[in-house]
Amino acid sequence: VFQLSVPLNFLGSVYRELRQSLLDMETLFNLQKVNIAVKEPKDAKPLLLTGGEIRFENVTFGYRPDRPILKDLNFTIPAGKKVAIVGPSGCGKSTILRLLFRFYDVQEGRILIDGQDIRNVSLESLRKAIGVVPQDTPLFNNTIEHNIRYGNMDASAEEVRAAAKKAHIHESIQRFPDGYGTMVGERGMMISGGEKQRLAVSRLILKDSPLLFFDEATSALDTHTEQALLAHINSILKEKSRTSVFVAHRLRTIYDSDLIIVLRAGKVTESGTHEQLVDRAGLYSELWSTQETLFGGNGDETNLSGEG
Ligand code: ATP
Repeated sequence: VFQLSVPLNFLGSVYRELRQSLLDMETLFNLQKVNIAVKEPKDAKPLLLTGGEIRFENVTFGYRPDRPILKDLNFTIPAGKKVAIVGPSGCGKSTILRLLFRFYDVQEGRILIDGQDIRNVSLESLRKAIGVVPQDTPLFNNTIEHNIRYGNMDASAEEVRAAAKKAHIHESIQRFPDGYGTMVGERGMMISGGEKQRLAVSRLILKDSPLLFFDEATSALDTHTEQALLAHINSILKEKSRTSVFVAHRLRTIYDSDLIIVLRAGKVTESGTHEQLVDRAGLYSELWSTQETLFGGNGDETNLSGEG
């Protein structure tokens, strides 16, 4: 038995990686037809978005049914608000996104978007409704222009440039050897992590989804680049009111959210605004003071702790 468990573990991690790269592919291509376990009903109607409220009701889910990751999970992400999901590593934050996209179905409970069970709506309309900036944006061996246009293959050259301007990447692109025609990806020019994530944001702008998901989108960046990207994202969010969900490790990137949902062991352990959670002296406040002790120290943070 012991000897067997090693190759099985290995297969498990290979499988997991495959699933995760599929997530990226699906996000980019919006490949409704390629899905593995999930079926849509014959009479599936398109998702009808009224404001963009996301609700998890008594959701239980595990990649293996005997090992639940989310346990009777309940939360509501109000329409048009900026919401953060935080919690210790492995508590199921990214799993929430995979369930929303219906890469898997819940084992118990239901997920509602604007009151509609996502199992009853067409997969195409569901996946179109959600735009994602992942932690590491995959680039295709193609031009910058093409890479941005993956957000919306029908976009005109002007729309691609307008999106790049909003994401604050247009000027950098103009400095690239062939501008928008510059080849990137494995066989093309290397671009920085910050530029990559701004490309992802321009894709998101082109896709124009009403629900936005930032899955550790800035976590691979240095603090300065991260702050700049977050400022751009915030100004884009202010333009139109959209539901936006930030999955984050570093609490300093999300403390200004309208609502912060704190997960522990597959359940919501507490939720509220930054101020409310700091006052509660629970897990959030514990994580906050640990991170401030570890990474704090400049003027910004002194101000922040003064407010909390
Ligand atoms: P982190 O903050 O480290 O990114 P997370 O909160 O986003 O973690 P998830 O990625 O949602 O956590 O994973 C939750 C749990 O599910 C982890 O224990 C992880 O190992 C496990 N897990 C994730 N994906 C799979 C998969 N495809 N198959 C099996 N187990 C998985």
